[in-house]
Amino acid sequence: MESKKLVTILIPAYNEEDVLTMLYERLVKLMDSMPNYNFEALFINDGSKDNTLNIIKFLRSRDKRICYLNLSRNFGKETAMLAGLDYSKGDAVVIIDADLQDPPELIPEMIKYWEEGYDDVYAKRKSRKGETWLKKTTSKLYYKTLQSVTNIEIQKDTGDFRLLDRRCVEALKQFRESERYTKGLFSWIGYNKKEILYDRDPRAAGKTKWNYGKLIKLSLDGITSFTTTPLRWSAITGVLVSIVGFIYMLFIIAKTLIRGIDMPGYASTMVVILFLGGIQLIFLGIIGEYLGRSFSETKHRPLYFVDTYNEEKETNIKK
Ligand code: UDP
Ligand code: MG
Repeated sequence: MESKKLVTILIPAYNEEDVLTMLYERLVKLMDSMPNYNFEALFINDGSKDNTLNIIKFLRSRDKRICYLNLSRNFGKETAMLAGLDYSKGDAVVIIDADLQDPPELIPEMIKYWEEGYDDVYAKRKSRKGETWLKKTTSKLYYKTLQSVTNIEIQKDTGDFRLLDRRCVEALKQFRESERYTKGLFSWIGYNKKEILYDRDPRAAGKTKWNYGKLIKLSLDGITSFTTTPLRWSAITGVLVSIVGFIYMLFIIAKTLIRGIDMPGYASTMVVILFLGGIQLIFLGIIGEYLGRSFSETKHRPLYFVDTYNEEKETNIKK
């Protein structure tokens, strides 16, 4: 008899005490409904300050399919996911949010497609309940911009909720960059992708960990880690401005020759100086973004530290 395949369910959790038991119940229902597979529910406790870790420990004491990785502090969801991939054992890994915005009931369908040979089965949102109009519009606008400046295809309305075959997991583990933008990496690695549609539920309980500051940082990471096009914009703008300046110069010379010297124009000079000064500062900022990122990348710092993996204290801290 062929041995059962192992599916890891990877759940990054940061201050999620309110939803964990609800999540556990739904996961158990799912795991019990698929007896042909072994499951490992791997929680990544991303430095929670509430009872998240204790609840996970308690769940594990009752059910050994629950595993956990306790990071040494809060590293953010992107890094928590990487840590989870590093420690996952499954033949396939399903990444899912702890807050039940991604319904676990979709996993059997993902597994079905995985068995058909797809390597990356991702869930695309048909709708997003419980999210503000502002968040939806800015997110739409951002994806459009990102897509227009990168040459890899970024999947729209798709989060991290997906099933990855072991070889995708191994591929993703090779990216050890510090400013991670996992959404882009999923596209970068390629392999056979399959899209399934779902309605995104509102958060079951607790509060979102995202704020506009974090979103802006993630958006910048998305752009700067996948394209250097913005750096070229300064050159293009420079060329355009020079052309305009040159034409204007010819115009002034011709005018002076024909009509004599004009009155000095203070206002127009100021406008040009301010406008160009602004453009220069913007591009300095863009260059600075890239420079800063090269700086943090070249330090080659470890990406995270693990405090405990299941009951064991992690002493092999090299990752
Ligand atoms: N999360 C995390 N570390 C963080 C912030 C969030 O592991 O620093 C987890 C969080 O517990 C949840 C998932 O990432 O499982 C998505 O977070 P959230 O629901 O707050 O984001 P939203 O769905 O509002 O974009
Ligand atoms: Mg959420």
